[in-house]
Amino acid sequence: MNMQVNGLHHVTAIAGDAQQNLDFYADVLGMRLVKRSVNQDDPGTYHLFYADAAGSPGSDLTFFPWPQLAPPRPGHGLALEVGLEVPPGSLDFWEARLRRFGVRVAARERRFGEVVLPLEDPHGLRLALVEAAAPRRFEAWDGSPVPAERQVRGLYGARIGERETAPTTAFLERALGMQRLAAEDGWERYGVPGTAGVLDLRAMPDARRGAWGVGAVHHLAWRVDDDTHQAEMRSRAQAAGAVPTPVIDRFWFKSVYFKEPGGVLFELATDGPGFAVDEDAAHLGESLVLPPWLERQRAAIEAALPPLKMPVGTAREAYREM
Ligand code: ZN
Repeated sequence: MNMQVNGLHHVTAIAGDAQQNLDFYADVLGMRLVKRSVNQDDPGTYHLFYADAAGSPGSDLTFFPWPQLAPPRPGHGLALEVGLEVPPGSLDFWEARLRRFGVRVAARERRFGEVVLPLEDPHGLRLALVEAAAPRRFEAWDGSPVPAERQVRGLYGARIGERETAPTTAFLERALGMQRLAAEDGWERYGVPGTAGVLDLRAMPDARRGAWGVGAVHHLAWRVDDDTHQAEMRSRAQAAGAVPTPVIDRFWFKSVYFKEPGGVLFELATDGPGFAVDEDAAHLGESLVLPPWLERQRAAIEAALPPLKMPVGTAREAYREM
């Protein structure tokens, strides 16, 4: 039995306007919209999934556009930044591209020996492009405006802030089977060797408790092989003090949620069945997909959602004005 998670499965964040979110991730970052669905607990809100061409587990950044929310309150118990892996040697291309679109880009940094370009998405979500070559499955998206050899290859990791790190790091080791991989500049790095998706933690003893808002990370989902592995990891999380939900069928994968000891929302998500279970793999994301139990309400759900157009280069103009 595998007693470890297999790195990151997906990260879900809160966006503002859905069209601006789509324009940025599909047209500027060049990721593929692999699923256009709704928040299953709030079907009046989209749930948009961006990934590589195949929607490979570990490549997926998803959003709930909730433009009516206030900005987040920075603080502990929240994920602070999402890292996206780009190929070694591609940051010159990316920096020039992002600046051309008027994206807020910070100075490059070196973290744990790797070159990192921090930036913000249009709604304030902190991202970092990391030149790395993690062990992962990746399928280039030939519909992307970004050439295949420069494309975002998947999730690199996430940074979280905690009031104190010890309860969380003990949980990562005991419940999720992670190891301490490195430490640098007040950051501790945890992960599972041989998988993609590290977690960097930092103590923020003087900060307030953080709160969600537009531009915040909602949760971090960790990969499990299948139902059996998920059940095992769920009971390990429970034994380590977490209060996990029952298994919830998200249709493209099955999910269990719990908060880690510092308050960050985690999920255990199965690799399968995947995004092609209810759509032709060649046409992922082109139309609104609802889980079967919401199909009967399709007309009402579609009428309540704002229209969403696939970007056709129009984002280029919009971003120049920002
Ligand atoms: Zn999730």
